[in-house]
Amino acid sequence: MLLSILALGALQTPPGLDLWSEEDLEARLERDRAVCQSVTPEHLREWHDLIASRPHAAGSEGDAQVIAAIAGAFDAMGLEVEVHRFTAYLSRPVSASLRLMAPSEVELSLTEMALPGSAYSELDDDLLRLGWNAYSGSGAAEGEVVYANHGRKEDFERLAELGVDCEGRIVLARYGGNFRGYKAKFAEEAGAAGLIIFTDPKDSGYGRGLETPEGGWANCDQIQRGSLKTLPWSGDPLTPGVEATAEAARLDPGDIALPRIPVQPVGWQAAAQIMAPMRGASVPKDWQGGMPFRYRLEGGPGVRVRLEVQQERALVETANVLGTLRGTLSAEAAPGIIVGAHHDAWVYGADDPTSGTIAMLETARAITGQAKASGAAPRRTVTFAAWGAEEHGIIGSCEWVEGNRQALIEGADLYVNLDAAASGLRLGVSASPSLTSLIHGAAAAVPQPGTAPVISALDAWRGEAADLPEPGFLGGGSDHVSFLALCSIPAASISARGAPGTAYHSLYDDLTWYRRVVGEDYESARLIARITAVAVDRASTAPILPIDLGKPARALSRAARELLEAEPELFGPAGLEGVIGRAEGQAVAAEELTGRLRAAARSGALDDARCRLADELLRGLERAWLSESGLPGRPWYRNLYTAPDESSGYAAWPLPGLQKAAVDADNRIAREQVDHLGAVLQRRSGCLAALRVLVEQATER
Ligand SMILES: [Zn+2]
Repeated sequence: MLLSILALGALQTPPGLDLWSEEDLEARLERDRAVCQSVTPEHLREWHDLIASRPHAAGSEGDAQVIAAIAGAFDAMGLEVEVHRFTAYLSRPVSASLRLMAPSEVELSLTEMALPGSAYSELDDDLLRLGWNAYSGSGAAEGEVVYANHGRKEDFERLAELGVDCEGRIVLARYGGNFRGYKAKFAEEAGAAGLIIFTDPKDSGYGRGLETPEGGWANCDQIQRGSLKTLPWSGDPLTPGVEATAEAARLDPGDIALPRIPVQPVGWQAAAQIMAPMRGASVPKDWQGGMPFRYRLEGGPGVRVRLEVQQERALVETANVLGTLRGTLSAEAAPGIIVGAHHDAWVYGADDPTSGTIAMLETARAITGQAKASGAAPRRTVTFAAWGAEEHGIIGSCEWVEGNRQALIEGADLYVNLDAAASGLRLGVSASPSLTSLIHGAAAAVPQPGTAPVISALDAWRGEAADLPEPGFLGGGSDHVSFLALCSIPAASISARGAPGTAYHSLYDDLTWYRRVVGEDYESARLIARITAVAVDRASTAPILPIDLGKPARALSRAARELLEAEPELFGPAGLEGVIGRAEGQAVAAEELTGRLRAAARSGALDDARCRLADELLRGLERAWLSESGLPGRPWYRNLYTAPDESSGYAAWPLPGLQKAAVDADNRIAREQVDHLGAVLQRRSGCLAALRVLVEQATER
């Protein structure tokens, strides 16, 4: 009877507020409003000017200025500041050229021209205008051409089926469909002598809308830069598993699988000059892009190009900047709740990353402002982080995590990532399932811009759906990766998109473009900063950590069920059905315990010592996904719940050990990984039992 009343009570409380008692609820909501109020467009704009006014690629002079500016901003907020320096193996462009040799000789453009109305695009440094892909091989290649669609694994398989040989040829692939590094990897494996990656107008240009500077979509010059690194570990290429300090032991660069062939990104005008004269067979229907001619598989002997790329790879020093606000409940050195965004960019990076970086800075200002206004430190430590060298391959965050792994496993509560987070008003969240109610609650407390009558960001996100939206699975591609993969810290990536255009990784991603296309009003960044600030303020002041106990087991059973249905012969005999049954049982028990634990917490039955112990057990529940032996074939990745997939790089693999067994059709891996998931449930059930005892002891008196 008691149980059903509590369950009903939890149902009627808005999401995320069941940690506050009825008497405290009004004060909580008042504080949420104050946090929202303190986030302003004026400040967001100032942060934007501070960081995105100069080119600031990792290791450059602009990078050093941005690092100093962020350290100064954290200091002015009263945060404890650490500039965490690291030495990473980066690449930089020296020169590049692309020449059509036949049917006629034409030098093709590899740079982006200045735009009327954008002072930022008027750079006199040719290397800043040059489009390039980090970690390209150096050298020259000349030959006939092949078009490989998106350059995915299946695209190269299709070419082979169609009898098209890439050996010694220069392959053209359009952006999209996978991480660009895999285009290079698969092209190299197919024997290509070089690779040209182009932005197709159908995907990002006039096929979508008006072009920059008239509109916001890619114009004929616009070039997407970006890293090509696809190593089986994240972070610095030479120091997997350890922090890239100046004196760290390093791998021999000759021993790691970075691209050997020259790879060059181009705008669609240069691609059209090569592809229009191609004379081979027509492409399969879904390979046709948006340029005004029929795409062909091969150019034949009448179309030849010469590509030359020269780059230098070297050890380069750059830094992360951390700002810490100490909490009263957290252990002394615990990083607590971490909010991170990278600060390095390809050129100006007004959208990527800075629209996220400014939301992080504004969150820091809101949280420190609340602490000052209330005259009280938060219960949990909050750490704000601006990561370096993300664009080269998620390096700064990873090196910091590798250097602080033990402290993070013991004392990190959760991680929020804000990368290129604000380019529109359509909210999107990917997160660990245990953070669902925290995120729902924060979105419910924030008004959705442009709605009348005003609705919450949660209602706008939910749309017409009957149920609350479930956050997506976290894949690869940004700074949350090492927090999840190495430490199993629950993480969320929050963003809002939908602006009419993209300047992704191009020179044109500057303040002029951002303010014209995303908006002068900073409503997008304000939305993201408010949701993040409310989530962080609630999580840092709640009696116990706002971790959902039951959702992870539910997510496990759902993902495992899908895999079992897809591969019954593989996972049936391996005993996956048994694990699913146990996960479902655990989810039910954990959901019931969530209600009791939160009731005890909001009633004040847990003193600080018990709250501290509850937090420790809640962190332990999340760490249950760690496997020290790592994933099959990728020992660096140690989280059994999620990992980036193996051959596209961005997509998420739920239950990656099982996914690997399915990809390899390997019975031994299947059995082993099913056992590992059983052990995860076992570890979780130990934490749940201890939490149950804690609640019983606290409420017994
Ligand atoms: Zn980014």
